[in-house]
Amino acid sequence: MNKHTPEITPDEKAELFAQAREIAATWAAIGRECDERNRFPVETVEAYKHSAITAMSVPRRFGGLGADMLTASLVGRELAKGDPSIALSYNMHQAMVGIFRNTPALDEGTREKVLRRVAEERSIICGPFSEARAGLSGLADTVAVPDGTGGWRITGRKNWSTLVLGSDLIALNATITDPDGSLPDDFRERARRESTFIIPTGAPNLTVDHTWDTMGMRATGSHTIVLDGVPAGPETYAGNFRQGLIGEAEWAAMLFGGVYLGLADKAFTECVAILREKHLGATLAAQDTDVKTLGHVQFEVGRMRTALDVAERVLEATGVLAAEGRYEEWPAAARKPRWDVVKVTTTETAMSVTDTAFRLVGGSAFRRGHVLERLYRDARAGYLHSFTTNQLYDYSGRYELGLVG
Ligand SMILES: Cc1cc2nc3c(=O)[nH]c(=O)nc-3n(C[C@H](O)[C@H](O)[C@H](O)COP(=O)(O)OP(=O)(O)OC[C@H]3O[C@@H](n4cnc5c(N)ncnc54)[C@H](O)[C@@H]3O)c2cc1C
Repeated sequence: MNKHTPEITPDEKAELFAQAREIAATWAAIGRECDERNRFPVETVEAYKHSAITAMSVPRRFGGLGADMLTASLVGRELAKGDPSIALSYNMHQAMVGIFRNTPALDEGTREKVLRRVAEERSIICGPFSEARAGLSGLADTVAVPDGTGGWRITGRKNWSTLVLGSDLIALNATITDPDGSLPDDFRERARRESTFIIPTGAPNLTVDHTWDTMGMRATGSHTIVLDGVPAGPETYAGNFRQGLIGEAEWAAMLFGGVYLGLADKAFTECVAILREKHLGATLAAQDTDVKTLGHVQFEVGRMRTALDVAERVLEATGVLAAEGRYEEWPAAARKPRWDVVKVTTTETAMSVTDTAFRLVGGSAFRRGHVLERLYRDARAGYLHSFTTNQLYDYSGRYELGLVG
C-alpha cells in the first residue's frame, strides 16, 4: 500500500467512464460556441457536480471512490474528447482533490473537512496560485495580513483563476505579512510564510474581474479574482504552500496529461475522418485525386498514431509505477521533473498532432470555427502549465549537472 494505491472497484470505474462519455457528448455540443463567445459554460456545473466524477479521487474514508491518478486522468481524457477546454476547467478541481488527499501540509482534520465537503456537499474547488508577475515561480504577491484575532485579511489579484465561475471553494496561496502588513526582506523567510488558504468563493470583498480573453482554452473561464481584504479565519489556513502542495504535483502532471491526450485523440479522429473523405478532384496527375492515396498523408497519419501511442503509454506507465510505489526509488530532488515527463510528453504530443492535422487537412483548418483550428489553439496552452516545459528542462539539467539536490 502507498498513497497512490487504487481503492476504486472495476464496476465503479466502468460507471465513471460511462458517465464521462455522457457528459463529454454534452460538452462537444457546446464547445465551439463557448470558444467563440469566450465563456465558461456555467450551465454544465450541476450535471458535473452530481456525477460520480466530482468525488472520484476522494479517499473512501471520506466518502469518495478512491480513484487513483491513472483512473482520474483517463476520465479527464474522455471528457477532453468532448471538449478539451471545458475539461481543462474542471480538471483544476480534480487536481486540487488529488493534491489535498495526501499533502502533509494539511492536518487530518482540515483534510477530512475539505474532502468531505467535496464528497457529501458536492463542492467544487478551484486553485488560483499563479501570480501575474511570474506564474508559479514567483512567491505570492498576494498577502495575508494578521487581523489580530488569529485570522487574516487577504489582498491581491490572481489572474489564472480557472473554474472560478463554477467553484464553491477557492484554494490560493498568500504570504503572511508582519502585523503592520510588511513582507519579510529575506526571500527564504518569505517562502516560509507563503501559505495556502481555502476560502469560500462567495467570501466578502472577493470579486471576479472578467479578464480572460486568450488565444485558446477560452471556455476555462480563467478570470482574475480580486481580493480586497478578504476575511480568512484560522479554519481557512491550509499549511505551507511550497513544501506542501508542490510536493504532490504528480496529480497535476497526470491530470493535465489526460486532458491533453484527449485533445490529441480528438484532433486525430477529426483529421482522419476528413482525410478518409477528402478528394482534390481533377489534378495534373489524375482525373480525381483521393487525399488518402497520397504517400505523405499516409506517412503523417502513421506518425501521429505513433506519437499518440507513445503518449498513452507514458500516461499509463506513470500511473502504474505510481500505484506500485516505484517513485519512492527516485531521489527526492529528481521527483518533480520525473513525474512531469507525463505532462511534457502529452502536451508536446497535443501540439505536434494538432500541427500535423492542420497541415494535412489544409486551408479549411485555417478558418475560424473549424474544429482543428480550435484544437490547434487549445493545444498551445499545454506548454504553459506549471512548471512550464522550459522550466522543467532547466531544472532537470541543473539536477543532472549537480547544481541542485
Ligand atoms: C489555460 C490555463 C489555465 C491556467 N489555470 C491556472 C490555475 O487555475 N491556477 C494557477 O495557479 N495557474 C494556472 N495557469 C497558469 C500556469 O499554471 C502557469 O503559472 C503560467 O502559465 C506560467 O506562465 P508565465 O509565463 O506567466 O510564467 P513565468 O514564470 O513568468 O514564465 C515566463 C517564461 O519564463 C520561462 N521560465 C521561467 N523560469 C524559467 C527557468 N527557471 N528556466 C527556463 N525558463 C524559465 C517560462 O518557461 C516562460 O516561458 C493556467 C495556465 C493556462 C495556460
